[in-house]
Amino acid sequence: MGDDAWPRRRIEQAARALVDASPEPVCAYVYDLVHLRRHVCAVRAALPGVCRLFYAVKANADPSVLRTLAGVVDGFEVASLGELEKVRAVNAEVPVVFGGPGKTDEELDGALARGVALVHVESLHELRRLERLAARRSTAADVLLRVNLAGPLPAATLAMGGVPTQFGIDERELPVVAGVAARSCSVCLRGFHFHSLSNQLDPTAHARLVGLFLRRARRWGDEHGVAVGVVNAGGGFGIDYGDPRRSFDVAGFAPHLSRELALHRPPGTEVVFECGRHLAASCGAYVVEVLDLKVNHGRHFAVVRGGTHHFRLPASWGHSHPFVVVPTDRGTDGLPRPEVRNVRVTVAGQLCSPKDVLARDAPVERLRVGDLVVFHHAGAYGWEISHHEFLSHPPPRFVFLGP
Ligand SMILES: *Cc1c(COP(=O)(O)O)cnc(C)c1O
Repeated sequence: MGDDAWPRRRIEQAARALVDASPEPVCAYVYDLVHLRRHVCAVRAALPGVCRLFYAVKANADPSVLRTLAGVVDGFEVASLGELEKVRAVNAEVPVVFGGPGKTDEELDGALARGVALVHVESLHELRRLERLAARRSTAADVLLRVNLAGPLPAATLAMGGVPTQFGIDERELPVVAGVAARSCSVCLRGFHFHSLSNQLDPTAHARLVGLFLRRARRWGDEHGVAVGVVNAGGGFGIDYGDPRRSFDVAGFAPHLSRELALHRPPGTEVVFECGRHLAASCGAYVVEVLDLKVNHGRHFAVVRGGTHHFRLPASWGHSHPFVVVPTDRGTDGLPRPEVRNVRVTVAGQLCSPKDVLARDAPVERLRVGDLVVFHHAGAYGWEISHHEFLSHPPPRFVFLGP
């Protein structure tokens, strides 16, 4: 099995148990924390020794997920004081790096007060504000400068760099900002940060991109007489939601990465990956029960308990999310049980909006009212990014499978 593997047997078992436990239609997120731990250990073990693996908290900030990962990853990447608090609530020690655009003085100072390992600085103005805050605390803030490279960079689902975006410091401005940082008494320039894309599926292209990051970091380090301690290559290892077996292959990435490291890594530099999606996606599933089946304008629809207010990812990305059907013995209280066989079905939620679609024209062998639809690879950017209050339906249950 490749990186795609999701804990199907354990999640299906938990889903059936939910049907048995409640007469109410099932709607739940199920997370397998054993799988999460094992998967992230495998990713970390596959990376070359000079690499560090951080977890980007925004992908899934659930305390159980954070607690599971605290002993496994080298640290956490946060982009708000709220995320920082969530990490500190489960672990007082683990290294945390603080990034994100638009940091307020309160956030920068809060990050200093809480002893973050590094602040990822997004602009010259932010650098100057951080300098002043650190000086007031009579300390020096360790920073990476986040760079938006000139590009073009390889294609991926989301681009943060190589194109005009709000992220990072334009590569053309970088020498000036690096000069300010290198001469400062209140910030200490430790290296450079390059989270440039998300959902990269091509390991060779990604290794080449990391090679480019290393070359740039080395050049700027040399120009400013700075020892580059850290090159942060960001996250971006992808999941192929059309066919999860074709997701980013970390084991296949490693030899290409090793070659780039051998060629371009400045001496003594650690290479940090701060991944969210690839680490958290496969452990989680959104499990919903079919409430109704209908045909409108010649197209089959299954309406389920839940919807995009719990799981906005497919609507946000415009994709059809992969699922399996788990048959159940759920009764219909004496009424005929609606059923379809060997059709393509569009799975929609309970919201009064035609955008509330989780999967489109997906083939099913058999689907009945009362069966479960299990959307797998839903552990990252699922619940976290959804508009929970829209229409005021109840939230899903959250089930965590431990050892
Ligand atoms: C979102 C984010 C990540 C994680 O990205 P994934 O694509 O989920 O791996 C890493 N770094 C930064 C700065 C981010 O904003």
